[in-house]
Amino acid sequence: MSKKLQAIRGMHDILPTKTPLWQMIEKAMFEVCQQYGYAEIRMPIVESSDLFCRSIGEVTDIVEKEMYTFDDRNGDSLSLRPEGTAGCVRAGLEHGLFYNQTQRLWYQGPMFRHERPQKGRYRQFHQMGVECFGISGAEIEAELILMTYRLWKKLGLADQLSLEINSLGTNQERLAYKALLTQFLEQHKEQLDEDSLRRLHSNPLRILDSKNPAMQSLIEQAPKLMDSLGEESTLHFQTLRQLLDDAGVTCVHNPRLVRGLDYYSHTVFEWVTSSLGAQGTVCAGGRFDGLIEQLGGKATPAVGFAMGMERLVLLLDDAPWVAVKPLAYIIHQGEAAKNQAMRLVERLRDELPTHSFILHCGDASLKSQFKKADKVDATFALVLGESEVENQHVGIKFLRERKEQEQIPQDELINFLTNNS
Ligand code: ATP
Ligand code: MG
Repeated sequence: MSKKLQAIRGMHDILPTKTPLWQMIEKAMFEVCQQYGYAEIRMPIVESSDLFCRSIGEVTDIVEKEMYTFDDRNGDSLSLRPEGTAGCVRAGLEHGLFYNQTQRLWYQGPMFRHERPQKGRYRQFHQMGVECFGISGAEIEAELILMTYRLWKKLGLADQLSLEINSLGTNQERLAYKALLTQFLEQHKEQLDEDSLRRLHSNPLRILDSKNPAMQSLIEQAPKLMDSLGEESTLHFQTLRQLLDDAGVTCVHNPRLVRGLDYYSHTVFEWVTSSLGAQGTVCAGGRFDGLIEQLGGKATPAVGFAMGMERLVLLLDDAPWVAVKPLAYIIHQGEAAKNQAMRLVERLRDELPTHSFILHCGDASLKSQFKKADKVDATFALVLGESEVENQHVGIKFLRERKEQEQIPQDELINFLTNNS
């Protein structure tokens, strides 16, 4: 017997009952991006594996064990993108977008990581990301955070999300801190879990990001990165905090916030919720000034964030939101009525372009057509039978109100629907 066809584990269909919610979130995002002057960029889903190794970092979870990597027919190693920033920087370099100019960009789409699937964590998931290139001051970090804050307010999520920020300082400051941290962790080697032991010399900072509860008290006691920062980095961080304060955005300084990707420096931030368990980070970002140079370009200041769409959808699942319901379902009986219904519904779509109309297709009894009209939640059923065709009338049945069915001339239908919608 052939195997039942199924979606790949961790990769989900988004069904028509859920897409209105997705579209509502996407629309709110597009509007906010537009308000702040950000333009959309669309990158391929597949890139050379090398791009991700060189940007995200060889010893990160993503590159070490989460990427979907394969050789294509030419023997080139390709990967499904696990995130958007690397591809965005590659595209910017390839098309000269960073040369002496500021770029405010956003993207969205599917990302792929071979993780253990659970609520809020999938193997294909969707991110909406924003990147800004060419601005080094803390006001741009503030701008990104204000954008996200505006979005939460628009979506009614502001009360559920809190902002955590930290500074990773410059590369040099981080190197000095790494030495301190390694020394501390060496002294408590017996308390490190397997992952952390592996990271101890390759990427000790990532140990601070461990999700293992048994590691938390050790992490609490570790030296703080903040104490290793120089004057300039400290000032940058303080300026950002002041800007956020002035704008009325509350934030918490989380000295252990390091992020899972190697390319960050200075500011890192996360919007977190307590309602999604270990998958509590809804949006994460920061500054990545070194990345463009690392990928072969001229040193360019850069900041960005990415938000996980599925996690937002989970948070909004119970919120009241309105799917578009059809204004009318068009019911007909007989050949002549069917033809007239087709013409009539096209006229309605011409005249009332913001409404949705469903034309009954196929032959069915009036009763069964009325049932369908009710099932799709239409406000009205418009009825065309033999007599209506003859005298150019249309029957109107109110599906949501207790009212008698009416007959009106077809010429008055647009007026009627405009006044009753
Ligand atoms: P986490 O700590 O939850 O693993 P991360 O640090 O790996 O997240 P980023 O790479 O910064 O996440 O991605 C930004 C956002 O994308 C996350 O905050 C989250 O909302 C979302 N995200 C990341 N990985 C997944 C996944 N496997 N499934 C669903 N959403 C994800
Ligand atoms: Mg992760």
